[in-house]
Amino acid sequence: MKVVNKNYEVHDVNIMRPSEWGNPFSHLGYGTGLNRVKTREEAIARYAELFYSEEYRDRRRRLLQFPNEARLGCVCRPKPCHVEIIAGYYNWRHMGLDPFEAIRPEHNIHKPNLTLIND
Ligand SMILES: [Zn+2]
Repeated sequence: MKVVNKNYEVHDVNIMRPSEWGNPFSHLGYGTGLNRVKTREEAIARYAELFYSEEYRDRRRRLLQFPNEARLGCVCRPKPCHVEIIAGYYNWRHMGLDPFEAIRPEHNIHKPNLTLIND
């Protein structure tokens, strides 16, 4: 599963708000019904915690049903984005890759404790 900038490339799944794959945390000053955080990195870190929580178990299961060719689209690239958390989970479960492969050290993003995952 890969990630594309949907402004420039064809995508199959829109992971932006208000889709169910959108990030409910935002560092931006607009949008309603969002949980405000200070930085992009914090928004991604909070999403990672949510994504790996019990609350998102069904969502994770639905994600795993997507074909491997599915391209997830957002407009953040080349900036870091919560889509890396989503694609990382898929690629971890299906291909055994590091689920946080796309998260670079300079992003300073807290990674959830994977020992909690048993689904
Ligand atoms: Zn994004």
